[in-house]
Amino acid sequence: MMKGYDTFFEEPGTVVERICRVCGTPCLVERNKLGATSWVAAMAKRETLHDFFYCPHHEQEWHQQALELVQAIEETPSKRLASLLQLDLIDLLKENGIQPQNEPVSSGSSE
Ligand SMILES: [Zn+2]
Repeated sequence: MMKGYDTFFEEPGTVVERICRVCGTPCLVERNKLGATSWVAAMAKRETLHDFFYCPHHEQEWHQQALELVQAIEETPSKRLASLLQLDLIDLLKENGIQPQNEPVSSGSSE
C-alpha cells in the first residue's frame, strides 16, 4: 500500500479527522472496521480493527489524475516544474468544484 494521500488506516479512535492530501476535502470515516490494512496483511489473511478514512472523491477519475499531479509535484527536483504542476492541479480541482486549500491568497484587498 502506498503512503496515504486519499485513504488512511488508523488505530481505532486515535484520529479525529483526516484531510485528503489531494483535494483538501475532509475524509469520510468508517470506524472500527475489521479487515486487512495492507497488501501484506491481506496475503497473510491478518485482520485488524482500524478506522478507515477515505476521500469522498477518491474513486473519481479526475481525483486519480489529481493524485498523479500531487505525486509528481513531490517527486520533481525542479521548483519551476513543481509550480507549473501546482497550477495544473488547481485548475483540475476547480473544474471539479473543489476550492483548493493551498491556492495563494491575494492579499491587501480587504475592501
Ligand atoms: Zn480528495
